[in-house]
Amino acid sequence: MDGDFRAALPSFDAEITAGEGETPLVDLAVGQDDRRIGSNVTAKLESLNPTCSFKDRGSALAVSAIRSSETSFEAVVVASTGNTATSVAAYAARADIPCAILVPAGPSSAKLAQAAAHDPTIFTVDGTFSDCFDLSQRVADERVLNATAVYSANAFVASANRTVAFELVHRLGKTPDWVSVPVGAGPLLGGVYLGFRELRDAGITGSVPRMLCVQAMGCHPIVRAVEDETPVTSWDRPIRTNIGAIADPLRGYAEDGEHTRQAILASSGTAVALDDATIKSWQKTLASEGIYAESASAASVAAIAHCDAVAEDHSAVALVTGHGLKEPSSNEVPTKDIDTDIDTVRDALLN
Ligand SMILES: *Cc1c(COP(=O)(O)O)cnc(C)c1O
Repeated sequence: MDGDFRAALPSFDAEITAGEGETPLVDLAVGQDDRRIGSNVTAKLESLNPTCSFKDRGSALAVSAIRSSETSFEAVVVASTGNTATSVAAYAARADIPCAILVPAGPSSAKLAQAAAHDPTIFTVDGTFSDCFDLSQRVADERVLNATAVYSANAFVASANRTVAFELVHRLGKTPDWVSVPVGAGPLLGGVYLGFRELRDAGITGSVPRMLCVQAMGCHPIVRAVEDETPVTSWDRPIRTNIGAIADPLRGYAEDGEHTRQAILASSGTAVALDDATIKSWQKTLASEGIYAESASAASVAAIAHCDAVAEDHSAVALVTGHGLKEPSSNEVPTKDIDTDIDTVRDALLN
């Protein structure tokens, strides 16, 4: 297949782009103590998209649809405290489209500061994320597009994420055995699966990879349903994790999670839940390889190491969904005070 993946996307008479997609692939051969990943593991650095997460693929398409004269949309609303808010705000700014972001009241995150740089209107809602999502659905109509990154609000997201599959086949020249994906509601996993299925149905490839879904142990409704072989229901227990991007309780849209589970099953894939400490330790391991990933993204690599179904000789791609700079460390950086002593610096480097 040739390199023009945009041909596979819905096309509008406006194309808003900030250079998203065509992200780098880098080989990984990392491990720690008893856990190593095989030598056939590749990371796809979605962290190097314009706003530093894969969400830019969906935002480019959604904002192009709004800008287009073929739709009646004029503005965009999004419920998000994280990467979707930033991404939609950036693309809306580029297209000069009014953008409203709905967040729960409470301490604002570093991610929201990144979104604010693009000057959207940010509303705090008295309630939880579910209340923000519910409000976004009620605000949306034929003039206002809801760009919240769940299938039930916004079909553009999963459609845009298909290009990850096209790029992988184009660059690798084959279908990998596994693709590991950090999952909240899962339009990334679902979209990537759809892209691979289209390539297979068109006879371009012979198979579809097995999809590996990873969620935070502290809230893993999709993993739970895969393990229990039951339809996905929303998470009604307390949420015990700080890795929010992969801990969506799916309140009000459990069917989104079920859509994701169906993609996992259809691919003969599987799902794992990992605790925060394990995920954070793999974030450090990745950093030791020169890759700075946000914690949710490091979970894709951790899952490959911790999933017994992935054999040493299987080829696997880990989607590094967002950049480490998204989560500024609150810890003091350890430094060594030495005035201007040449020997101390040389000893640290060379001995
Ligand atoms: C949104 C997000 C996810 C989860 O992806 P979904 O397909 O929306 O479930 C994972 N990692 C990062 C960094 C994200 O921003």
